Amino acid sequence: MTRPTRALLNWSHLRHNYELARSHADGKTYAVIKANGYGHGLVNCARALSSADGFAVACVDEAVALRDAGIQRPLLVLQGAYDAQEWQQAAELNLQLALHHEQQLADRSSVRLSRPVSVWLKINSGMNRLGFRPAQANDILQRIEQDSELNLRYIMSHFSSADEWQCPAFYAQLETMVAQHWPVPFSLSSSAGLLTEKHVRGTPVTEAVSRPGIMLYGSSPLNYRSASELGLKAVMTLQSQLISTHTVPTGERVGYGGDWQAPRDTRVGVVAIGYGDGYPRHAPSGTPVLVDGVECPLIGRVSMDMITVDITDHPTAQIGSPVELWGEHLSVDRIAALCGTISYELFCQLTPRVKRITRELPSDGATVLNP
Ligand SMILES: *Cc1c(COP(=O)(O)O)cnc(C)c1O
Repeated sequence: MTRPTRALLNWSHLRHNYELARSHADGKTYAVIKANGYGHGLVNCARALSSADGFAVACVDEAVALRDAGIQRPLLVLQGAYDAQEWQQAAELNLQLALHHEQQLADRSSVRLSRPVSVWLKINSGMNRLGFRPAQANDILQRIEQDSELNLRYIMSHFSSADEWQCPAFYAQLETMVAQHWPVPFSLSSSAGLLTEKHVRGTPVTEAVSRPGIMLYGSSPLNYRSASELGLKAVMTLQSQLISTHTVPTGERVGYGGDWQAPRDTRVGVVAIGYGDGYPRHAPSGTPVLVDGVECPLIGRVSMDMITVDITDHPTAQIGSPVELWGEHLSVDRIAALCGTISYELFCQLTPRVKRITRELPSDGATVLNP
C-alpha cells in the first residue's frame, strides 16, 4: 500500500458552489483559481468548471499553464504583466490583464503587440495594495483610450474588509467607486463581497463581473456565517489513516518537547499526516480529528510526517481506521480558526506529497492526479 494521505476532490461540489456564486451575481462570474486552484489543482479546477464565464489567476505563468492545457475560456490575470514580454504573451494567448501601475503602461509601450490586449483598470479604493488612486484614473483612462492596442474592459477594485459584518471600510470603498463616473462597468467582489448586499445611500451597486475564489472550494468567506449556512459544500476532504495505536500511562508525555502529558492512561493513535503534507504545525492540542467519523482530539506537537490523537474514548479505532483532517465532515474553517489562520492558507500549503484523488474527472477520466 502507498501512503494513505490524500486529498479527495469532489468536482460536483465545486460546480455546486460555482452555481451558488453565480446565483448571487449580477453579471458574469469569473472563478478564481490562482495558486494552483487554492491547492486543489489549477487545470483540474478549470476542467471541472468548463462552462464558467471565465477564470482569474494571479500571474501570466498560471494563465500559460491553463492555455497549454487547452483551456479556452476567458482568462484574467489579477496582477497583470510583470514585464514587456508578458504583455506579448498576453496578446498571443488572448489573456486579459489587470492594469494597476504606470510601470505596466511603460512596459506595454516598449513592445508592439501582435494583437490588442484587454485590460481591467484596477483602482485602489482603500485597500492600498494594488491599483491607481481615483484621482489618477482619468489620466490613465485617457492613455488607454489613445492606445489602439489596449481595450478597456472593466474597472476593477478589491475590498479589504468584506468578510466582516457591515464593516464601515467596506461601504467607504463602495462609495469611492460610485463617486466617479466610469466609462465601463465594474468588477468589485471576491467571494465575501459577492455575498454582501452592496448599496450606497440606499441605491444598489451592481457589477458586471464578480470574482469568487474561496467560496468555490466550500469555505465560508464571511466571518459571521458558516459554509453550511451559506449552502457551500467542501470540495477537498483531506484523509489519512491510523498507522499505530498504543497506550501511554498517566503522567507520560507525547511528542516533541513533551508538550502534552497524559492526564489518564491514554490510548494514542498515530496518523500518517504532518506538516510535511501541509497539516498546520500550529494546530494546538484539542484540534478535532475525525477517526472513523468520531471526533478525537489532537495531542502533542504536529510532526513532519505524523500526528498523535487521543483515541481513548474510541475503542474500535485501530490501525487502518480512516481519518479525516478536514473536508465534508469536518469544516476546514473550524480547523483554520483553531490554528489562527484561514482556510486559504491551509489549502495552499498542502504539499505535493499529498495525492490529489478524484473519482469523477470531466475530461480524461484519470483517477489519481498530482497537483
Ligand atoms: C484572490 C482574489 C479574489 C478571490 O478572493 P476570495 O476571497 O478567494 O473570493 C478576487 N479578486 C482578487 C483581486 C483577488 O486577488
